[in-house]
Amino acid sequence: MISFEQFSPLLRAALLANGMESLANEQIIGNFWKLTERMLQVNAVMNLTTITEPRELILRHYIDSLTLLPHIPNGAHVLDVGCGAGFPCLPLCIARPDLHVTALDSTAKKITYVAGTAELLELDNLQAISGRAEELAAPGQPMREHFDVVVSRAVARLNVLGELCLPFLRVGGTLLAMKGSKVQEEMEEFAKGAALLGGDPMQLIDCTITPPPSEDVPDTATPDHHALVIVKKVRKTKEIYPRKYAQILKKPL
Ligand code: SAH
Repeated sequence: MISFEQFSPLLRAALLANGMESLANEQIIGNFWKLTERMLQVNAVMNLTTITEPRELILRHYIDSLTLLPHIPNGAHVLDVGCGAGFPCLPLCIARPDLHVTALDSTAKKITYVAGTAELLELDNLQAISGRAEELAAPGQPMREHFDVVVSRAVARLNVLGELCLPFLRVGGTLLAMKGSKVQEEMEEFAKGAALLGGDPMQLIDCTITPPPSEDVPDTATPDHHALVIVKKVRKTKEIYPRKYAQILKKPL
């Protein structure tokens, strides 16, 4: 386990390398350190992440999550669908106390971990709920058509994810789906489905995650990328959506 004295300059350098200098303050870096200690401790007894090397953890979990920040309006009500060990929801809460974030996952153990972490870090802008997205987004449920922004990373293909996420958005709200290299194909598959669920045509943004210069890896570190798919909700979602999960998987829209 590295020390705070080693962690702090690593995180600061990563924030600066990615144009996030406004976040490089004592409070935020201190909270990311608490998150790192907690995650690595709990990871020894519970499967939270395969990434444990601090530099990688900073880039692939923290900076990666923080790339969403420019797309989230001030004071927004945000839902993280399938938050797992708390990504992107925990970094968002640490960086932006103005947000009201709900973390959702179907695995109760992960939600217990995320809620405990929020308490430890004194993040009073996070609420964690265990349940299935397609059930909590059903007509009549309080979270349906409620959120300004829905975020999601590494949960499902876009044509499945869209049906889980779009019903949660109010008209005028935005889905931010963090995607990997197959994004073009996934967007083509989901073009009709997005419209059926009340979404506008999708927008694709390339997010670059730049490793900071370092003494042990001079010049060799190459930037990493993820794709961000943005879908604006322009109409209410029909009450027949979301369908049962088996149906969503069997016949994606
Ligand atoms: N977003 C995290 C975790 C990704 S793993 C990250 O990027 O690190 C996918 C997570 O989605 C798992 O924790 C799984 O329990 C959750 N999940 C999958 N389908 C779900 C559903 N229908 N409703 C709620 N959570 C779901």
